[in-house]
Amino acid sequence: MTSAVELRGTGVVPGIAYAPAIWTAPRPQLPEHSPNIPEEAREAELAKFQAAAAAVSSRLSQRASHATGVAANVLEANASMASDKGWHKAIAKKMKTGVPAHLAVARVTDEFVVMFEKVGGLMAERTTDLKDIRDRVIAELLGKPEPGVPTPEVPSILLADDLAPADTAGLDPSMVIGLVTELGGPTSHTAIISRQLGIPCIVAVDNLHSLEAGEMLLVNGEAGTIQTGVDATEAEALVKADEERREAIRTWRGPAVLADGTPVDVLANVQDGAGAARASASQAQGIGLFRTELCFLSSENEPEVKEQARIYRDVIGAFPGKKVVVRTLDAGSDKPLKFANFDEEENPAMGVRGIRIAAGQPSILTNQLDAIKAASDGKATWVMAPMIATVQEAQDFAEQCRARGLKPGIMVEVPAVAVQAEKFLQYVEFMSIGTNDLTQYTMAADRMSPKLANLTNPWQPAVLELIAMTAAAGQKTGKPVGVCGEAAAAPYLACVLVGMGVTSLSMAVAAIPAVGVQLAKVTLDQCQQAAQAALAAEDAAGAAEAARKVLVGA
Ligand code: PEP
Ligand code: MG
Repeated sequence: MTSAVELRGTGVVPGIAYAPAIWTAPRPQLPEHSPNIPEEAREAELAKFQAAAAAVSSRLSQRASHATGVAANVLEANASMASDKGWHKAIAKKMKTGVPAHLAVARVTDEFVVMFEKVGGLMAERTTDLKDIRDRVIAELLGKPEPGVPTPEVPSILLADDLAPADTAGLDPSMVIGLVTELGGPTSHTAIISRQLGIPCIVAVDNLHSLEAGEMLLVNGEAGTIQTGVDATEAEALVKADEERREAIRTWRGPAVLADGTPVDVLANVQDGAGAARASASQAQGIGLFRTELCFLSSENEPEVKEQARIYRDVIGAFPGKKVVVRTLDAGSDKPLKFANFDEEENPAMGVRGIRIAAGQPSILTNQLDAIKAASDGKATWVMAPMIATVQEAQDFAEQCRARGLKPGIMVEVPAVAVQAEKFLQYVEFMSIGTNDLTQYTMAADRMSPKLANLTNPWQPAVLELIAMTAAAGQKTGKPVGVCGEAAAAPYLACVLVGMGVTSLSMAVAAIPAVGVQLAKVTLDQCQQAAQAALAAEDAAGAAEAARKVLVGA
């Protein structure tokens, strides 16, 4: 294939798109000199402001009408903000003294922002949206392109440094058919939105600004490549083949089996009863990760055992007679709980989080285990602890679970556990590898950092090696070792994990069909060979490419 330029990044949503590039427009700069408006021209200047605000408001309303759910609400709220009476009145008042429209908009918005921030709470949260409206109106007044995401006229590939939530709300997937950003990581906002919309997406692309609006791009969200100068016929053939893959995903009904008939235990990650109900209507065979801490993010006080039991029963009850793995509170770091995390920490990702809280506040864990027991109605629910680092922690946790008739397990997120997995498995019944944190701690790279996507990539051979060691310990001891981090949701990586001997894959419900379709295409032997090939690579891109070659037989 002829290609003039090939850029690489971290592919986060698979799929192929071929379309012209569009860039998000920058925020407008105020001109250095803005002379006062003479009295006789002030009325016309006010009319100019009103027209600009109305244009912005109507464009946002129009975008809201194409969006659904939260995105539609966000856009509708922003549209009405652009016609807010108080804001208009304050701007008109300022303009009466001769201040030009764009400066009046900027100054009044600044005053409103200060006021909103003083009030705090929801009002303070609206300041980002207010600033967004300000920038759109100023751009309109200065005759500049609308900042943020432009409205494409033909299906296009959107390029950006990074995208804010307001930018992505209301993206129309029939017009924005690919997303590429210079920053961002596999768990960034951009990646999550693209996954929801099913748009191929690549993040952390160096030198993205070398691409210009209007250039035809071939984006491969699986390989993480962006190519220019590709022959149109060849590109369209690739897009067509990809459409067949997407159709297979849309129509996949399970169950998850390899091409040689080997069954694969595919489970769902959930955070509440509603999610568990959706999972039970999907092809998930159970729940592999119930993130209990997400139920209590806004709780001021520790919920009573009865209240906790009610919530857990909703989840456990969604899969009667099937496997449900409840994770005890992983409070701390990016998910602090008011009743569990009191101290400000310099480095909360490495601080008192997960099981470590039990040392200082044992009743939080014992109360939760009592609640899980109550919600289990005599069944031996699988329960696992997050952030285990020592054998003693595993042993203590297991004792407390067994005392309540629950089946104890631990998460493998700290490399210390992976390298000594067999020792830990003496005390627990199962393990579940949290590849998000295992990657963060193995590579010493903050999983939230938008600049470290290459390091926070579970294809890193060192991470793969730790997963393989853990899976091997599971095989040796005959105890289940699953994966419940994002790695399980990546179709080729899922095959590699199966090839390493991982016994279950747990992922967001939306990811299950794509993984199921890929698993059905390969044999266990191919998965094992792909695992060997990936483990032998020297970097993440090499590992992914080596595995892909084995899996597609190329
Ligand atoms: C993980 O670390 O991979 C995991 C599943 O836990 P969380 O993403 O909730 O930290
Ligand atoms: Mg984790």
